[in-house]
Amino acid sequence: MTKIRMNPIAELDGDEMTRILWRQIKEIVLAPYVDLNTEYYDLGLKKRDETDDAVTLEAAKAIKRLKVGVKCATITPNTARMTEYNLKRMYKSPNGTIRAYLDGTVFRTPIMAPGITPVIPTWTKPITVARHAYGDVYRAVEMKTQGKGKAEIVYTSEDGCETRLPIFDFDEDGIIQGMHNRLSSIESFARACFEYALSVNENLWFSAKDTISKVYDETFKQVFEKLYEAEYREKFEKRNLTYFYTLIDDAVARAVRSKGGFVWAMKNYDGDVLSDMISAAFGSLALMSSVLVSPDGCFEYEAAHGTVTRHYYRYLNGEKTSTNPMATLYAWTGALYKRGEIDQNTQLMDFSKKAEDAAMKTIRDGIVTGDMALLMKEKAEAVDSEAFLTEIAKRIRM
Ligand code: NAP
Ligand code: MG
Repeated sequence: MTKIRMNPIAELDGDEMTRILWRQIKEIVLAPYVDLNTEYYDLGLKKRDETDDAVTLEAAKAIKRLKVGVKCATITPNTARMTEYNLKRMYKSPNGTIRAYLDGTVFRTPIMAPGITPVIPTWTKPITVARHAYGDVYRAVEMKTQGKGKAEIVYTSEDGCETRLPIFDFDEDGIIQGMHNRLSSIESFARACFEYALSVNENLWFSAKDTISKVYDETFKQVFEKLYEAEYREKFEKRNLTYFYTLIDDAVARAVRSKGGFVWAMKNYDGDVLSDMISAAFGSLALMSSVLVSPDGCFEYEAAHGTVTRHYYRYLNGEKTSTNPMATLYAWTGALYKRGEIDQNTQLMDFSKKAEDAAMKTIRDGIVTGDMALLMKEKAEAVDSEAFLTEIAKRIRM
């Protein structure tokens, strides 16, 4: 059989257990069928340290140039990692660096596997969460105040004009917080959400709290509405899709009663909280895929989970671990499909769908990893990661 050929994608290797899975997925499932053409960047912590993290930015640039990337989970260093890897500096999260460079929005979608029913049984289709990943409480300044005093917001424009708003007159100890966002960031977010909803052919919801936050959240709402009317209403209506705004509390209630199958855009904090709720309710973090989309149409695929450190230490002790490779496999199939779609390489798109079908068939046949076995009602056989991938490869019918 001749292997499927492809144009290059950016390949970002990572750390620990997911780095092991990375190699196994390529060798066992992909390479027998596809002549993998990638620009390889090693984002393993050791290499990031050797290059003073320059490799992360190079990889981000490659995604921008090639339009498609696939990324393995990476360690975000903390003090313990500083010692463990003898690092020169405490590097920033690679995901943060790449997201900032591409001005991207992260979309997280659960992988629904046969036999694993969501906690909410009416959810028959996945719910994709889009989280605005800039500003609000994540960039807030805060302080404690003591005793009687007056808190105000002061905005000083470039030409020295001051605008003041009272926050509160304290007659006791208190706390205050100041947060911000940028219109350009909100617009990029809204654009990425409309584009993504069109690309997956699903309705888009946006929720905030404009009834209480009459300037801040209202601005988010208006940015979405204006962009929809100006550029997207026609495209959505042509495909029978809808964009719909509702209050965050109403959206939560509606989501619980829904069948799923929509993209839910949220502000930073709401997205942080609800993406964990959605992923737990659909099954587990190990079955959550993630894609970073830039407003100019670059796509970076990855698993939502981390490097699965605990399994890695067992692996280093010679144990064969049953770590779930589904989300990392889907990052690869997602990236290959997107490459195929951009280049009209139908063979590559076909392969990507067949690999995903084979993974579903393997699970339907009751062959799973340990974490999935715990979630399934029917009895299933838990095998190690390598055996699971081998079973998937066996079921790919070209
Ligand atoms: P984690 O790697 O997601 O793992 C947390 C726990 O969830 C695991 O110990 C495991 O539970 C379970 N789990 C996650 N993925 C699984 C899989 N594929 N198969 C089976 N079980 C899975 O999170 P963490 O331990 O908090 O973080 C580890 C490292 O990952 C950190 O250095 C962090 O910086 C990094 N991280 C990277 C990314 C990224 O690159 N996108 C995201 C998050 C975290 P059991 O041990 O109970 O089996
Ligand atoms: Mg969170």
